[in-house]
This record gives sequence, structure tokens and C-alpha cells, in this order.
Amino acid sequence: MRIIITFFTLLIMMIDSNLAAASDIEGVRLYRSPDRTRIVLDLDDSIDHKMFVLESPARVVVDLADADLKTNFDSIKLDVTPIDRIRTGKRGKNHLRLVFDLKEEVNPKSFTLAANERYGNRLVIDLYDFRVPVSKSLSDIIKTDNRSIVIAIDAGHGGEDPGALGPGKILEKHIVLKIAQYLKKLFDEDPDFSGLLVREGDYYLALRKRTAIAQRYRADFFLSIHADAWTSPSARGASVYALSTKGATSETAKFLANRENRADLIGGAGSINIRDKSADVAAVLLDLSMTATLGSSLTAGEYILKNIGSLTRLHKKRVEQAGFLVLKSTDIPSLLIEAGYISNPQEARKLSTPEFQKKMALAIYSGVVQYYLDHPPPGTALSKNLSKRQFIYIVERGDTLSEIAASYKISVSRLTSHNKLISQQIRVGQKLMIPTK
Ligand SMILES: [Zn+2]
Repeated sequence: MRIIITFFTLLIMMIDSNLAAASDIEGVRLYRSPDRTRIVLDLDDSIDHKMFVLESPARVVVDLADADLKTNFDSIKLDVTPIDRIRTGKRGKNHLRLVFDLKEEVNPKSFTLAANERYGNRLVIDLYDFRVPVSKSLSDIIKTDNRSIVIAIDAGHGGEDPGALGPGKILEKHIVLKIAQYLKKLFDEDPDFSGLLVREGDYYLALRKRTAIAQRYRADFFLSIHADAWTSPSARGASVYALSTKGATSETAKFLANRENRADLIGGAGSINIRDKSADVAAVLLDLSMTATLGSSLTAGEYILKNIGSLTRLHKKRVEQAGFLVLKSTDIPSLLIEAGYISNPQEARKLSTPEFQKKMALAIYSGVVQYYLDHPPPGTALSKNLSKRQFIYIVERGDTLSEIAASYKISVSRLTSHNKLISQQIRVGQKLMIPTK
């Protein structure tokens, strides 16, 4: 009898606490991307919410049922967003109202995300701009004749999804964005190439959105930049991966593909439905067109791997293959580059220095350029400039890089990057290509 009473007491307590349990809003983050402002509320439980728009003055209202505010919005920077002010207030006994006073009208969307390995329950509010700022006009890039080769550079993760975590709070998303920015600069400085940054700041982009951006700008090549993590801190080295339409070439490749593919779950892609029928059909069609580009991906990957190999230790000495989602939805030759192991304290330290980030960018750039010098696409400026790019200076005794650069009225860095030089040391008899721009 005593046991039964205890059981009932426990049951009543459980029901009682369930009824009273409000969901606490424990934190808030804001990410600005080119087309929207994302507000993420961290919750300790699931939540019911309602969102609507009010006009004159324009505002978005979010009503949260059974919610307690355990944080404040004071530290959130609103200066580059359409939000003027965020107000909160109690409604009735348990409900909470958030009001976003707006500087301009937005198109709001909201959804909840269940807890995962990185975060608890979340409510995501996306405020889409009506005027999407375009970082580069299409007509600038897309020319039919004498066009530059467009390299889409995708810095992995971002925003809600930090990627791999290294010692000392080093985050993959920050390191890969830096490498991507250096890489874009190298391509932009090259008269025959043009760099396109897929992710331009600290925000999340769904995996399929990343390739959609590359396709929109008719990129010739898609490079996704990452930094690896492994349970053992001794794992190290850079690797280059291509898509596999069959299976993974190694367990590491398979493990990595699984982890990178989970980014959409962590980053909150929102309305993605992979089981969608038409998406499945589209994927099959894309798989077919991809087999044609896979050969180019693997060949270019070897050039890149060779250059990275002269800079840092390689994890695997050949281009590996696995089913990466970010490489899957494109008919553009594409590679995923892991710049090193962020979980290895030594490599993490190296990866977070601008010097190494620049060298990594230079190695990737050099690999891509060497690949295209051997495989120039018809109609591109490169195919016409091949002979000019081959203009050669033979180093003589007593020459220095800075003197050679000065005599051709170009910068040392331009000469270094053009010749894919990892260091500034030159030797007598060495052939240097002189850039034409
Ligand atoms: Zn990654």
C-alpha cells in the first residue's frame, strides 16, 4: 500500500510540474546574412508560438505560450538589420510577447528546431529583406566571350553551425571563412579568374543553397573549405575530397561525409525536405550529370593536393571520395578541402594564424590555376592568355624577388602568387612566370 501511495504522489507531482513548466528563453543570437536577419532563441523546452505582422508602424509580433524570459536583448547588435528595437512584455499570467519594431518592411518566417548534439530546443525567426543586396552583379561575371573563370568558394558552416571545435574556443566556421576570403582575393587579383564567396559572413546557408548560389553565378568550379576534427587529438593533416556516387573510399571519408551532412540539422535549414519526391528525381538527374564532372573534380583535386602537400602534411595522399551533400546537388566540378585537424592543438594553432591561412589559400589557388593551365576552358580569357601567362623570366645570380617584381612594375605578392611560390626564396636558373595584369 505504501508503495502505491508513493507511486501516486510521484505521478501527481509529475503532472503538476508538467502543467506549471514554462519554457525558459535562456539565450538569444542574431545572424545577418545577405537576404535575411535570423534571430535564434534558446529554450529549455519545446514551445508553442504565433507570429504576425502589424503595420504603421511596421512590426513583427511573436507570442510565446508558457514562456519565461531568462535573458535580455540588450547586447544584440541591430545596426545592420531592419530591426529598430526589440520589446518584450508579459501577456496574461504565463505568456510572453516579443515585438520587433522595424525600420523597413520584412517578410517573416519562423520555425522551431528540436534539441541536437550541439543545442537545446530553439525558435528561429527569419526576417527576409524585400530588397536583396547583391554583392556582385551577374553581368559583371557572366560574359560569353573572353570571360574569366569563376571559382565559387564555400566557407563551410556559419551562424548557428560553428562546425568543428578546437582547443581555446577555435571554431571551424571562422577559420574557413578567413581562408575563403584570402582565396577570393587571389582569384580576383588574377586577370583570368574571378572569386565568388558563397558565404560572406557569420550566418548559416543550407547545403543546397550553397550550390544554388554557385550555379546562379555560373561558377566553373565549386570549392567547399573545411577544417576537420577527430576524437583523437593526434589526428592531423589536410585532405581533399570529391563526391562519390557509389560509396566512400575510406571509413574516415564516410564518417566525415556523415558529419558534414548533419550541418543542415544543426544550422537550421528550416523547410528542407530531403524525402521530397521531386527532389529525389532531381537528385538522380544530377547524379547522372555529375559523373561527367567527377573526372574533372578528381583531376583538379590532384593538382590541389600536390600544392597543399608542399605546404603541410597530408592526411591522405590521394583525393578521397564520399557522399557529401554539399557536393551532390551540383553539376559543377567540385571538391571539399579539409585544411587540417582543428582538434589537433598544434594544427589548430597553425590554422588560426593569418600566415598559414594565406599559405593554404595560395596552395589551393595554385592547384586550381595549374589545373586550368593544363585544361583551359574554351571561350575564357585564360585560353587566350595562355601564351602571355607563360612569359618566363629566368633567375640570374644576385637576383631577388623584389628586384624582379620592381622591374616589371608588379608587387612581390603578385609575383609570388602568380608563380605559386610558397616561400620568397628563388634559385639561379629558376623559371618565373610574369603576370600580364
Ligand atoms: Zn566542416
